[in-house]
Amino acid sequence: MSNKKVVIIEDEPDILEVLNYHLKRDGHEVFTASDGAMGLALVKREMPDLVLLDLMLPGMDGLEICRTIKKDPQMQNTLVIMLTAKSEESDIVLGLGLGADDYVAKPFSPKELTARVNAVLRRGMPAKMIEKRERIDVGALVIDSVKHKVTVAGREVKLTTTEFRVLSHLASNPGRVFSREQLLCRTRGDDAAVIDRNIDVHIRGIRKKMEVEPPLIETIRGVGYRMADHI
Ligand code: CA
Repeated sequence: MSNKKVVIIEDEPDILEVLNYHLKRDGHEVFTASDGAMGLALVKREMPDLVLLDLMLPGMDGLEICRTIKKDPQMQNTLVIMLTAKSEESDIVLGLGLGADDYVAKPFSPKELTARVNAVLRRGMPAKMIEKRERIDVGALVIDSVKHKVTVAGREVKLTTTEFRVLSHLASNPGRVFSREQLLCRTRGDDAAVIDRNIDVHIRGIRKKMEVEPPLIETIRGVGYRMADHI
């Protein structure tokens, strides 16, 4: 992984210090802030590749910072990982809806955190920029977007249009969690009126047809779904 610029906004000194240490050790250029407003100012000044963002912050809360970053056209390639407590599941959903690229729940190990950071950096571009690929390979799963064909270990799986879109979106971003609301708005086509609003129904349909155990699409309780990235 080549060196990247990372801003950490976190008000707990111990966590800030640990993150700072490990990311620097990984070769990244790291800037830190322990206050929300100062953190956002730092992000605007440094234009980092990635922001590690605590949600509960003095000055300005993490969701507001995330919203500001993702709304700013100059920062459209800035990746955001939210640092959250387990009790903040509704905030995770909100944050992903605001465009956060991933989240890590506290308490986390430095190893887990740096793995997530490197995975998000590797994915590099925000999801919407890599969605339109002709062929997507995730383990045994192959999606041919041109022929509109899905195979699992060589066996063809017949999906509805919506199921195909949902699966393609998840498979374009393995390991990344999407809320139901995100999946719904990102996979809605021109035929929005006929689409069942219940994403769970589509996921169930996809899993049933793929016949893979454990399912390639994982349920993240209270948050949404993700494509397994360990296959
Ligand atoms: Ca905090």
